[in-house]
Amino acid sequence: MELKKVISKCAETRDSFYLYDEKGILESVENLKSNFPETEFLYSIKCNPDPRVLRCVFCEGFGADAASAGEVRLAHEAGLPSEKIFYSAPGKSDNDIEETITSSVIIADSIDEIGRVQAAAEKRGMIINIGIRIDPDFTFDSDKGRPSKFGIDEEQAIEFAQNCHYSNIKITGIHVHLKSQELSADVLASYYKKMFRLAEKFEKICGGLEYVNMGSGIGVNYAENEEPLNISSLASDFRSEFERFRSSYQDTKVMIETGRYAVCRSGYYVTKVMDRKVSRGKTYVLLKNTLNAFMRPSLAELVRHYSGESSPAGTEPLFTSEDAFQFLTLKEGVPEETVTLAGNLCTAADVFAADIRMPKLERGDIVIVTNAGSYAAALSPMQFSSQEKPEELFLTKDGKLQ
Ligand SMILES: *Cc1c(COP(=O)(O)O)cnc(C)c1O
Repeated sequence: MELKKVISKCAETRDSFYLYDEKGILESVENLKSNFPETEFLYSIKCNPDPRVLRCVFCEGFGADAASAGEVRLAHEAGLPSEKIFYSAPGKSDNDIEETITSSVIIADSIDEIGRVQAAAEKRGMIINIGIRIDPDFTFDSDKGRPSKFGIDEEQAIEFAQNCHYSNIKITGIHVHLKSQELSADVLASYYKKMFRLAEKFEKICGGLEYVNMGSGIGVNYAENEEPLNISSLASDFRSEFERFRSSYQDTKVMIETGRYAVCRSGYYVTKVMDRKVSRGKTYVLLKNTLNAFMRPSLAELVRHYSGESSPAGTEPLFTSEDAFQFLTLKEGVPEETVTLAGNLCTAADVFAADIRMPKLERGDIVIVTNAGSYAAALSPMQFSSQEKPEELFLTKDGKLQ
């Protein structure tokens, strides 16, 4: 496999690094685009803000789901215009609003925040189009809403929009994001259906919407034995709801967000064996930069350790499942042994995998951790212990290493 050669080559001069494979990213992105031709996609920058990854997805026509003023800046630096950058996050500061009011589409997360955007727009003598994030009166698996720190309760949003007298803002879109990592096409399809009903309500109240942003939910098969989400079946259910909606509302863009689906499986974390030892009968393989460089496998180990349940529920994006990562080596033809993959940090918590079967590893051997394209480098405490940060490498579709 080509990728293996690239990894070996990169490892000649590095003890740990990330590798993002553009071909893989493009395949995932194309898969979404071809199945949902009616839809605009937004890439959720927080899952992997690497500038080369951003350029790759934005060049494919994706807009940005930015979760901070910093991510709005990153989206601009990667070439997106303001109208394709949607800034949605709870608890925005006045500075966040000042900085992004003309450089993004602000999605207001509370009624108080709408007032603050109004004030900032009035100060500038402008009329600003905003979206509002809604906590709807339904969830993925129920027809009742739940309390949430995100967005404005549907009931409150309706009342507000019906009586809004602010003259410097106009509500032109709605945004909902309730859940990540759903693998059931039926559950997602029923969510989209409820979203179209919600959109219809706001079309009427707001006198037309420019967009409905359905958020994410599209899951990735992390464990190798997991059934992948059936995108084409999801898309066909989506299309019938979409067409119904489209017959009444021709001008409203329908948007779906995704972070992990675009990049998760196209990222690899590669580290090397620094040492090995046998302690009272237990074999430890010590790797370079573990918990500090890729936190999620260590968190999965902690969950395994503390949870009495056989398959504890995911807490995205920190924990997906106990078997969400594979640990691969390039070693062939050596006998297997049971080892604990631990790290070089001065904490006992940096265990990547306890008591797993691996081909016998020696100092200098490579260990590859899969599913490292999303919530990996971006979600790890790299300042811990003043270790050197692993480089992030990007393999272009033409096979060039950047
Ligand atoms: C994190 C986040 C996403 C991305 O979720 P994925 O599961 O990575 O696709 C999308 N939308 C919002 C609002 C988010 O906070």
